Amino acid sequence: MRKITLLAFILVSIQSFGQNTLIYCGQLIDGVSDKPLKEMTIIVKDDKIVDVKKGYETAGPSDTVIDLKSKTVMPGLMDMHVHIEGQSSPMSYLNEFTKNKSDIAYDAAVYAKTTLMAGFTTVRDLGGSGVNISLRKAIDAGKVDGPRIYTAGNSIGTTGGHADPTNGYREDLMGDPGPKEGVINGPYEARKAVRQRYKEGSDVIKITSTGGVLSVAKDGSGPQFTMDELKAIVETANDYGMVTAAHAHGPEGIKRAVEAGINSIEHGTLMTPEIMELMKKKGTYYVPTITAGKSVEERAKIPGYFPAIIVPKALAIGPKIQQTFADAYKAGVKIAFGTDAAVFDHGQNGKEFGYMVEAGMPAMEAIKSATMGAASLLRITDKLGSVEKGKLADIVAVDEDPLKNIKTMENVTFVMKGGKVYKN
Ligand SMILES: [Zn+2]
Repeated sequence: MRKITLLAFILVSIQSFGQNTLIYCGQLIDGVSDKPLKEMTIIVKDDKIVDVKKGYETAGPSDTVIDLKSKTVMPGLMDMHVHIEGQSSPMSYLNEFTKNKSDIAYDAAVYAKTTLMAGFTTVRDLGGSGVNISLRKAIDAGKVDGPRIYTAGNSIGTTGGHADPTNGYREDLMGDPGPKEGVINGPYEARKAVRQRYKEGSDVIKITSTGGVLSVAKDGSGPQFTMDELKAIVETANDYGMVTAAHAHGPEGIKRAVEAGINSIEHGTLMTPEIMELMKKKGTYYVPTITAGKSVEERAKIPGYFPAIIVPKALAIGPKIQQTFADAYKAGVKIAFGTDAAVFDHGQNGKEFGYMVEAGMPAMEAIKSATMGAASLLRITDKLGSVEKGKLADIVAVDEDPLKNIKTMENVTFVMKGGKVYKN
């Protein structure tokens, strides 16, 4: 009996020892090197990269070979600003009264798959209804196809602020949302809101430190948190090891959030040179979302697409983000790739690369902002962000050389996440 068990053990060992996936890469942008590497082999076993070798390694009898000799291979792309639960349409503002959470969940599963198929194997979800937490669990359990999600759960705002979920409602529907719903007034409620999110399973904290374009409110850029509220949020999030992100358009709200120690500024539209210097000093990341800016500007010109109160904000804020990005990049602010997908259609996240390059960032740096840059912001460079031995096998490929034609990033033709092929 013991002999049989031993024999079975040896057989299983031999079998699994031999089962590697060899990925032949014509060109490899590994997320670390400044130049692309030619003719490389990535060796994947289970969900990990076990080696990266020069040349095309000979496959063993039980190995699987994936031939990407004609493609450019990269680490799985990472978008640091999406809202996976929804997608902008002229009906968006009615959805909150007509959709149940279960309806949102089915939509979110579709958006998640679309995002993964576009080559984004990791996303940071910066605010939804809490369905994003359930979706993350379902994806991690392998029940739904989608990217790895680091989610904020619900965003945190102030009364009447950008993330107040009942902005613009009729008085009897407006209620008085509090820290549980993500609305805080004062540092005590700020701490409660962060701890509530931790308890519910959020990975990161998102606040709206200024007004915003798409909320049904007049102000799109003024500050909406006081310094003591911001400090309470950042300190509490730090206690729980949660990365913090602040939506911010106007300079005062951006500055306060940076001074309070926020980890990233989202949009950052009216950022001044002084703020850029402060961000460099504090090590704050800038997540630009140029695609969202362009998209709201375009859609604001379609009669009836947005409620009237939103149109002037969209036209004022939207077109400015690309220039702010150009200035911040030139000034040397750390950039992490983020698009605000949901404001435009999911799956088009790759457009951001073209806008970044158009604004003066070299293609290699734009790709790094969506790989190692994003992984650094999320503090997960130990497992993601590059094609290196020991990291999770999140690998994508495009048909053309993105260093010559960045638009090819909009058409990812190979997707592997955790060693599993989702698209080839
Ligand atoms: Zn957003």
